[in-house]
Amino acid sequence: MTTTDRTVPSSEPVSPPVQEPIDVPVDGDSVPPVPSAAPVSSPTAVTERDARKVAEAARETEWHKPSFGKELFLGRLRLDLIDPWPQPDPAYEAKGQVFLEKLAEFCRTSIDNAVIERDAHIPDEVITGLAGLGAFGMKIDEAYGGLGLSNLDYCRALMLVGSANASVSAMLSAHQSIGVPQPLKLFGTKEQKEKFLPRLAAGEISAFLLTEPDEGSDPARLTTSAVPDDNGDYVLNGVKLWATNGTVASLLVVMARVPKSDGHRGGITAFVVESDTEGITVERRNGFLGLRGLENSVTRFHNVRVPKQNVIGAEGQGLKIALTTLNTGRLSLPANCVGAAKWCLNVAREWASARVQWGRPVGQHEAVAQKIAFIAATTYGLESMLDLCCLLADDDRNDIRIEAALIKLFGSEKAWLLADELIQIRGGRGYETAESLRARGERPLPVEQLLRDLRINRIFEGSTEIMHLLIAREAVDQHLAVAGDIIDPEAKLGRKAKAGARAGAFYARWLPTLAVGGGQVPGGYGGYGPLAKHIRFVERSARKLARSTFYGMSRWQAKLEKKQTFLGRIVDIGAELYAIACAVVYAQTLKTDDPANAAQYEELADLFCTQARRRVDRLLHDLWFNDDAENYDAAMRVLDGRYRAFEADLVDPAGA
Ligand SMILES: Cc1cc2nc3c(=O)[nH]c(=O)nc-3n(C[C@H](O)[C@H](O)[C@H](O)COP(=O)(O)OP(=O)(O)OC[C@H]3O[C@@H](n4cnc5c(N)ncnc54)[C@H](O)[C@@H]3O)c2cc1C
Repeated sequence: MTTTDRTVPSSEPVSPPVQEPIDVPVDGDSVPPVPSAAPVSSPTAVTERDARKVAEAARETEWHKPSFGKELFLGRLRLDLIDPWPQPDPAYEAKGQVFLEKLAEFCRTSIDNAVIERDAHIPDEVITGLAGLGAFGMKIDEAYGGLGLSNLDYCRALMLVGSANASVSAMLSAHQSIGVPQPLKLFGTKEQKEKFLPRLAAGEISAFLLTEPDEGSDPARLTTSAVPDDNGDYVLNGVKLWATNGTVASLLVVMARVPKSDGHRGGITAFVVESDTEGITVERRNGFLGLRGLENSVTRFHNVRVPKQNVIGAEGQGLKIALTTLNTGRLSLPANCVGAAKWCLNVAREWASARVQWGRPVGQHEAVAQKIAFIAATTYGLESMLDLCCLLADDDRNDIRIEAALIKLFGSEKAWLLADELIQIRGGRGYETAESLRARGERPLPVEQLLRDLRINRIFEGSTEIMHLLIAREAVDQHLAVAGDIIDPEAKLGRKAKAGARAGAFYARWLPTLAVGGGQVPGGYGGYGPLAKHIRFVERSARKLARSTFYGMSRWQAKLEKKQTFLGRIVDIGAELYAIACAVVYAQTLKTDDPANAAQYEELADLFCTQARRRVDRLLHDLWFNDDAENYDAAMRVLDGRYRAFEADLVDPAGA
């Protein structure tokens, strides 16, 4: 069956989408394995250097606005960029509030998590109901029929929906954060916006298709081709894997490679594609560990004609568009993590107070109490990071690409830990499904589902490993700008000499600033009251972080890019420091907004900062005292098969 049978033809009036039963094979059905697309160039020919080149070309290199995160990695605590806490625009706030109230009511009355989990399907009424509320147009401007919400309210909406069911939230997020609306908003022509955005705002669903069977984290391996024809239009061929909403979407953003030719600069290019175009086949609906309601496809393109008017931006700009889209698009994923964290806190508190073992509520046993404190502190920390990032994105004065990437990384890693600790606190009931609990007459808390649903956040929209590399690249950007040619083996002598002079001038000014600062002044940052000590810690540690980055650069030079564990720790330290700064300034803001609860906010901020500081100290220590090299060598021996004997005497659950 092709998507033609299921989607709204573009010439018909737009009506809310109704999902018809999907007869594509689903997980468990026996189908032939998905072969790779006919390659434009053999993926095996792609080297590590090619991969880096493609990633580098996709980077936004310019910094037009100030960035708290970038300054932090350079050892400069620019509190003035986040304090005073940005305030929401009252006009946006009012319309956001009205929408959120309606949405909350809808989530309470019309989204049944148990049904979606049981049927692995989001009911049509949920989709039409959400479309009726305008939820598919939350990020689309009012001029095109959308709600034009702020980033803050969009994230609040996703958090709300995610608390009802994570698959529904993932559907809305894939549609708006990476699907057609956001890239068109940023890069689309007037004609494209007028043609597509009203349909999407009214409830047609969109999807984003980048990944392929041979290409996940490495876009240099992308093989889906878009070959220009005689009219200047394009013919697409290839297979796209794991497209969220791909089985139900009527509009797709497709990343395909245009070969270089006369009049065509070529390169990976983004297209808007009508999913009912001849030659598009949804071959499978994929099934996963969690997010059981996700409509995720394998989609094949066979000689699919796409008009040249459907190119987003320009040829060769596809990855840059995807990355820029993700600057704010990345906020939706941590929004779900914050929602999950709040639910963990709620369940942990109720259960650990009620469940008595060994003469006390389990929460009063120290081992469990530690987990509760971790959940409470981290929930507060995550909310402060998200709130700040959304507000910074909304007031548009700062560059938030590092901060958004940091919270994606931090949020997905921490939310996973919280869910794991919650399962432990719930004991056997944490591992039991909600359906089974209900059948036994107990409260059907879907804790194991939470863990399953959250796990993907560490993989998609940039896996943790890739986020580490991406953020580390920005963290060392200033160093590469001044000294990159010195360590570049391909740079000619003249370039090296120039870079030497540039670097000499920069480091002569910069290095002395890392020796002392306000964090060493007793009583510094006194305006933050009892939390001032944490800000002093951030200031001192940021300078230490910058010095460590510089030492790493000097010691390993060009080889630094291969020191992924070192770079990962640098980034994790930056994330913790950013989180501490957010937590403290957020407490000041909340105290003003809600003076009656001021003490509680201060306590939570203090708790979070205390825990985060211990993690920072450990990470700073591990930068230089670790077993990274030994572990790497051991892993190479594993890959060589040296320890294969230890894998013997098992039955292979995947079959021979
Ligand atoms: C439920 C789900 C929904 C998805 N939705 C979409 C979607 O809507 N659209 C879309 O285009 N894609 C989607 N994806 C694909 C997703 O973005 C990819 O799974 C992700 O990019 C990772 O790619 P991969 O799975 O091929 O892993 P690989 O790239 O094969 O990576 C395997 C492992 O190696 C690590 N790794 C890879 N390269 C490096 C490196 N250079 N250094 C260090 N570590 C590295 C990775 O972090 C990972 O741990 C989805 C996937 C899933 C499972």
